[in-house]
Parts: sequence; C-alpha cells; structure tokens
Amino acid sequence: MSGGLRPAERVLANLGITEPREIDVEAIAWHLGAKVKFRELDTCEARILGHGNRAIICVDSRKRPERRKFSIAHELGHWTFHRGQCLACSSDEIGNRASRTTDPERVADGFAGDLLLPAYLLRPMSQQVQRWSLARIREVAIEFGTSVTATAYRLIELDMLPGLLVCHNKRGRRWFKAAPSVPSRWFPQHDMDHDSQAFDMLFGSAPELAAPSLVDADAWFDQSDAGQYQLQEQTYKVPNGEVITLVLPGRKMFD
Ligand SMILES: [Zn+2]
Repeated sequence: MSGGLRPAERVLANLGITEPREIDVEAIAWHLGAKVKFRELDTCEARILGHGNRAIICVDSRKRPERRKFSIAHELGHWTFHRGQCLACSSDEIGNRASRTTDPERVADGFAGDLLLPAYLLRPMSQQVQRWSLARIREVAIEFGTSVTATAYRLIELDMLPGLLVCHNKRGRRWFKAAPSVPSRWFPQHDMDHDSQAFDMLFGSAPELAAPSLVDADAWFDQSDAGQYQLQEQTYKVPNGEVITLVLPGRKMFD
C-alpha cells in the first residue's frame, strides 16, 4: 500500500497522521533524525548539516512561523533527496517558484508541499468548497499552518482548485501555475493588462478586493478569442513589490 506513496507521504503515513494539526514539522524532523534549531541567520535562511544518519537544521528565527515551517520541510527535502551534502539555502532559493522544476531547490520545495499540504488531507477540505476565493484559501492555510501562496499553489497543482496563480512584479510575469484541468491554450500574458484589478494593486494603491471580481478574459490572455470569455480575479500583495493573482476561468473556458 505504502509502495506508491511519495517520500513525504510515506513519512506521514508512518506517523499515522490523519489531521492537518498533527503535522508537527519539528517532531517529523526528529523522527527523520534531524534536530531543528532556531537562530538569527545572516548568510542564509535555513541550512542543514548532516553526519551519518543525524542532521542539524538551522532556521532563521526572525521569519514568520509558516515560513519557518516551510523552510524546515524544505531542508527535510534535501535530507531525503540530497543527503551527504551540506546545504545552505537563501531566501531566494526556498519557495522560489520562478526557478526550473529540475532545480534541487524545487525538489526540496516539492517535498515540503507534500509534507505540509498532503493531498489526502487537502482533498476532503477542498471538496466542500463551492466557490474559491482568497478567503477560502486563507481558511485552508490557517488549518494547515502554511502561507496563502504555498496553499493556493498546492491546491492548483493537485487540480483541487481549477484555476491559475499568476505572480507579477513591475517588470512583468515572474511565474504562474495552472491547474492540470485548465486547457493549456490559456497561457497568461507576460505584461499585466491595465484592465485587471491586479494592475491597480501593482502600480497603484488599490486595496485587496473582498471577493473575486469579474473581468473579460483578455485582461489575462491574449488569445484572439479571449474577449468572448469572462473570468474572476482576486489579487494579493506579497513582499518584494510583487502581486499574486488567483485567476478563475469561467466555465466556458474549459470547453
Ligand atoms: Zn534548499
């Protein structure tokens, strides 16, 4: 049964974890032979030093709790896949969704996603959601003790949320993630359209909307027929002058 599980899922299964609040990442680290220490780190955000079957993970104590949790899970990903290496990971390497999927940092992030937001615990929760919004995602994030972005990314990756997550800075699109069920022709444009609400948040001082708002699909996609469709968008701000938008294509866009 456990043969088909991914490494992080196998860890959760071995520990008999059946609820999000049981995912205690420090206890899981201990179970895997790693002790976690919180320090003020200046040259990196987290690092792992392994010797034989034992390791010490250090995490920058000044980061937010959900970020520290993700960093520990990320280091456990290195411990699982890149054992024998001493690794120091910068803030730019942990959870950087703009880097290549073959990058060892992305492999470690994938492990962190599997460990902190496992599909078998997300599925029953996501099946109760009729209409996705940032508010719904935040509820799930609170339940799992993870960031909004990590949670939304995971829901989309697992096709539990049939939409896209698109990150922009003022120079253009940095990365995006589309749910497998979103037809691949809906590839978001690089430059942000001034008709999107996200534009006013990125370049102006518009506040976050309380709920997703309707916009013509050509605000996000430049396919010639995009103007015939509508979608919903809801944007939030993240550090480093970036904004992330939840794009929910209209039903007809899935045909
Ligand atoms: Zn790393």
